[in-house]
Amino acid sequence: MALILLVEDHPMNRKLVRDILQFQFEVNESVSAEEALHYLESHRPDLILMDIQLPGMDGLALTRRLKADPVTTDIPIVGLSAHAMQRDIDLAREAGCVDYITKPITDDPFTFLERIAHSLAAPAGPDAAASRP
Ligand code: MN
Repeated sequence: MALILLVEDHPMNRKLVRDILQFQFEVNESVSAEEALHYLESHRPDLILMDIQLPGMDGLALTRRLKADPVTTDIPIVGLSAHAMQRDIDLAREAGCVDYITKPITDDPFTFLERIAHSLAAPAGPDAAASRP
């Protein structure tokens, strides 16, 4: 079973997303970028679902950092944010996110899971992110 790291500071959002992901994936959670970095020193998730708005280091900064590190660059990262403007989506893609899901999650749970499964299979290196439309 694929392991997903969910980085999300808001307890309600964390529970909502976890409850959906658990249908199909093993889920570990971090409440901040700093906690995620600590977690990643000893774990290798198959995908990271990354809230963009985090206290302290935000999700974009953490994504850039993980993409710049050869140890973590291949882990696909899916952005998660309440901001739905094209500019926000572009920033997430530029940082290295393979997909970007807006909150609240309006997809039905199985569409959401399918989307995550699709990103799990996507090439996730920096070149792959740069060449994606
Ligand atoms: Mn947040």
